[in-house]
Amino acid sequence: MVNAKGSLINKALYIIILAVLALFVSPWLSTASAAAGSSSPRVILNGRQLYFEVPPIIQDSRTLVPLRGVFEAMGANVDWNAASRVVTASKGAITVILPVDSSTALVNGNPCILDVPPRIVNGRTLAPLRFVGEAFGGRVTWDGKTKTVYINNTSVDKPDAVKVNVNRINLRNGPSTLAAVIGYAESGEIFEVLEEQDGWFQIRRGDKTAWLAGWLVVAVSPDGTPEPEPEPQHPERIVVLDAGHGGFDPGASGRILKEKDINLKITQGVGRLLEQNDITVVYTRNDDRYVGLEERSNMANQLNASIFVSIHNNASNLPSVSGTETYFYAPASEPELFAQRDARARLAKAIQTELVSMLSRNDRGVKEANLSVLRNTKMPSALVEVAFLSNPTDEALLQNNDFVNRAALAIANGIMAFMNDYYR
Ligand SMILES: [Zn+2]
Repeated sequence: MVNAKGSLINKALYIIILAVLALFVSPWLSTASAAAGSSSPRVILNGRQLYFEVPPIIQDSRTLVPLRGVFEAMGANVDWNAASRVVTASKGAITVILPVDSSTALVNGNPCILDVPPRIVNGRTLAPLRFVGEAFGGRVTWDGKTKTVYINNTSVDKPDAVKVNVNRINLRNGPSTLAAVIGYAESGEIFEVLEEQDGWFQIRRGDKTAWLAGWLVVAVSPDGTPEPEPEPQHPERIVVLDAGHGGFDPGASGRILKEKDINLKITQGVGRLLEQNDITVVYTRNDDRYVGLEERSNMANQLNASIFVSIHNNASNLPSVSGTETYFYAPASEPELFAQRDARARLAKAIQTELVSMLSRNDRGVKEANLSVLRNTKMPSALVEVAFLSNPTDEALLQNNDFVNRAALAIANGIMAFMNDYYR
C-alpha cells in the first residue's frame, strides 16, 4: 500500500517537474534553433555575398545584421562612441545616428522607428536589416525560401537634367527612403541634376536642394527634350487601389457601418503608406462615388499598373461568422491569368499573412474565386475582405481607428513585400 502510494506521488511529482521543465526549456529551444548557424541568413550586396565575424541572426522574426560590416561594404565611415553607446555612420550626403538598445535612429536628422532596437552581440552591433540596407539609399529585398537578403545601392551615371515621369514623387533631405520628405515634385517637372549618390539625384528647386529617387525620373537635356535613353532600370511601379462599392452601391451593411465607407477609409490609409515609400498610387475612387466593375479593371490595365488590390469587407447571414480572407483568380482555362498564377497567389498570400498577423482575427485563408476585378485585370491582382460587418465584434473593431490603421498598414506591407520580391 505504502509503496503503491509512494510511487503514485513520485509519478505525479515527475509529471509536474517535466511540465515545469517544458515551460522553461521550450522557448529557449525555439530561440536557439532560430539563431542556429545553418539557418543564418545570407546577405548579398550588389551581387556579392558579405561575410561577417558575427553572423546575422533572426530575432522575433526580424533579421538583425552586423551594422559595421554592411555599412562599410556600402562605402560608409562608421564610428562607435563607447561612452554614449551610439553608432554614427556617414557617406556623402547621408549621416546615420543609431543609439544601441533604442528603437529610434536618425537619418539626416529624421527620426526612424526600428522594428527591433540595435543590440550588441559578441562585441558587434546588430541592427534590423531593412533599416541597415535602406539607410544609405539601398533597395532591400528578402527571399524567404533561401533566407537571402539582397541589398542594391549601385550608382548610375549623373544626367544633366531629369524629368519626373510619375504622378508625384517625394523630395527628401538625403539620398535614402529614410531621409525626411521636404517637398514633392509633380509629373512633368524638370530639374537640373547637381549630384548623384547610389542611384539618387540631388536637385535644386528655388533656393533649396533636395534628393529624389533616380528610378522615378527620366534623363532629359536641360531644355527638356528627352535624351535617347536605354530602357529604364527600374520600371515605374504603379499600384492601383480599389475601394469596393461606392455611391448608390453601399455594399454590405453592419448595424452602423456601410461597407463602401469603411472600404474607402482603409484604402486611403493603404495609399498614404505606399506613397510614403515612393510608390505611385492610383485610386479607382477617392470619394463616395459609383464606379462600374469593368471600369475599375480597365483603369488599371490602361495605366499598365504593376499591382491591383481591391479592398472590401464581408458579410454573412450568420452573425457568428468573422475574420479575414483574401482572393485571387488564375484558372488554367484563362491562359493569361494562369501564367501569373504563382504571382497572383503570392500577392494574396502576402496580404493575408500580414492582415492575420496584425489584426489577429480569424484566418479564413487565401481563396480563389472568379470575381470581375480579378478576372479582368492583366496584372497580379487580389481582393481582400478585411472583416465581417455582420459580426458584432468585427464591426466594433472596424469603428476603431487603431484597427483601421493596422489593417491599412498590413495591406501596404503585404503589397510592398510582394513588390520587393516580384519586381526586383
Ligand atoms: Zn464588397
